[in-house]
This record gives sequence, C-alpha cells and structure tokens, in this order.
Amino acid sequence: MTHNISSPWSEGYQGAVSLTFDDGAQSQLRTAIPIMNDLNLKGTFFVCPKGKDWISYLEPWREVAKAGHEVGNHSISHICSKALGTDPNATRCLENTTIQELEADILEASKRLREGIPEQKEFTFCYPCYHDYVGEGLTRQSYVPIIAKHFPAGRGRGEFGYNHPATCDLAYLWSWNIEHVNAPTLVGLAEEAATLGRWVIFTIHSINEGRLMISETAFRQLCEFLNRHRERIWVAPMVTVALRIREWRNSQGILRNE
Ligand SMILES: [Zn+2]
Repeated sequence: MTHNISSPWSEGYQGAVSLTFDDGAQSQLRTAIPIMNDLNLKGTFFVCPKGKDWISYLEPWREVAKAGHEVGNHSISHICSKALGTDPNATRCLENTTIQELEADILEASKRLREGIPEQKEFTFCYPCYHDYVGEGLTRQSYVPIIAKHFPAGRGRGEFGYNHPATCDLAYLWSWNIEHVNAPTLVGLAEEAATLGRWVIFTIHSINEGRLMISETAFRQLCEFLNRHRERIWVAPMVTVALRIREWRNSQGILRNE
C-alpha cells in the first residue's frame, strides 16, 4: 500500500541541498565535519576503502556515520579515463576496463563499507572523476545501469548542479563542483534549490588545502546560511533525499526506468 506524499521533500520544504565530499580527504574530517556537526547539518562522504588495512581506514568514517552522515561508495580503485593524463599506453584506465571488472571493484567497496560500518543500512555511489563509462570510441559503453542496479542513487556532474525530482536520473545525478567558489555564489546556488524547487548537490574535495579546495570561510558561510534557512531548505545526505524521491514518485505514479 502506498500512502500519498504530496511533496518530493520532507513536509514544508521548498527544495533540498546535499553537501557531498569525495576521496576522504583529511581536511573533511578535521574541518568540514566539526563545522557541520556544530550546526547539525548532515552530509555524504564518498570514500575508497582500498588496501589491506581498509578496516582501520574506515574507523574514523564509522564515527562520521554514527553522527548521522552518510559514508558512500567511491569504488576501491578509483579508475578514471586516461584522457586525464598524457600516456596513450596507460593501463589502469576506464578505456581498458570491462564493465564486469568495474562492477566487481564497486561491489567489493560496498562489501567493505557494510563490514566496516555495520550500523549503516543504505548508501549511494559517486562516479570517480565523474566518468560514467568504460571503453572508448566503438567499444565505449555506459556503466550507469550497473549503478542503477546496486544503489538508490549515483552522483556525477551535469548541465546544472540541481536536479528536478520528477525528471532527474537517480543513477546519474547532477552536481556542482564548488572548488574556489566564494560564499555569496554558494549561497546563491543553495537559494536556487528553494526558488526552483530542485535538489542542489554540491561536490567538495578539500577545505583550505590542495588543488580542488574550497576556503574554510566560504564553506562555513554556506553552512551558516543553510542553518538559518533550515525551515525551508532541506539539507540531507544524498541517500535520504534519493529514497524520499523514490517514495514520492511511486505515490504520484511517476514511473521511471530505474
Ligand atoms: Zn574521487
């Protein structure tokens, strides 16, 4: 029996924002999570539980999950297109990987996440380097169907950073990567979630360090804005919003091939 849900968001909200983080950078643990915990904002952290000692790698992330955040799957091997580099003979790249190899790598990451963080029931996926295919040219094919089969949602990058709840492909959601973006711009992007009735997903790598950084000041100001407007903008992990949208689509008879 499905009960009727009038809004794709939790009741009373105009739109949704998800703060998502890639690659498990230390600055996320050190800076982003304390800021978010102080303001009671929950986000999604995509990690690669690689190596022999993956269980101890996951220990701090287990605490993050216990605090109410989502710890998601970013695969184990983080394989991307060789087009990012200069070596035409690169071997470890999506051009040389089969769908089956990639699926095995992703499922092993899920198994480790379930073992290392047994409290967490469901989690989403994040495409390494936003790339959603294997092969090239005549042999190139999308691996989005694999993600659709195993996860409530997957995050890529897209035309806009926001997603429409009725039309977005949950297996390849659009996001905004916000490196080097200033606070007023971030606030404007978050406001679009409310004014357009959309789901804005931010992609963040590191805070105050590294090539793909956002400043701590800008991140803090974004979080403070979201906290001030939490009555109308729903801030939640990706998995929470994705499951709600699925429930809403079912209740509205919006059938999607997913
Ligand atoms: Zn990554």
